[in-house]
Amino acid sequence: MTDMLRVVFQNCRKALNAAAQPLRADSEMANLTLAIPDVHNTTTDGDVGWTNRPPALVACPQCTAEIYQKDSRDSIDCTRCTANRPANEFSDLELIALVCPSCGDHMKHGRRHPQQFDVPEWATCPNCSYHWEFDHMF
Ligand SMILES: [Zn+2]
Ligand SMILES: [Zn+2]
Repeated sequence: MTDMLRVVFQNCRKALNAAAQPLRADSEMANLTLAIPDVHNTTTDGDVGWTNRPPALVACPQCTAEIYQKDSRDSIDCTRCTANRPANEFSDLELIALVCPSCGDHMKHGRRHPQQFDVPEWATCPNCSYHWEFDHMF
């Protein structure tokens, strides 16, 4: 190989490396974005705290009709029979569903500390991605 060819060859390699750099940076950015998919939903469309809880459907303790409790501070008042429970007895009743305040769909809900809490600690709407958390600390 002549000196001339060697220089051309080395320049080619430099150019290839330079072209590859931005591509590598882009694919790393893409992976990073995919790794944290739920951040947007929890910060831009959602609520935190029991007083901001989504409306709930609970079973009436007397006639098992569905009772719609819009606000977690409202008393739980059956429209079919005489049952009327204060808001703090919510956890004694059977929870049928949490209702998405954004689109009205039934939400998925669950608990993170079943031994300490007998009420839902989070709920997510499968339809519009609205998300509620009992507390951000958990
Ligand atoms: Zn009832
Ligand atoms: Zn929804």
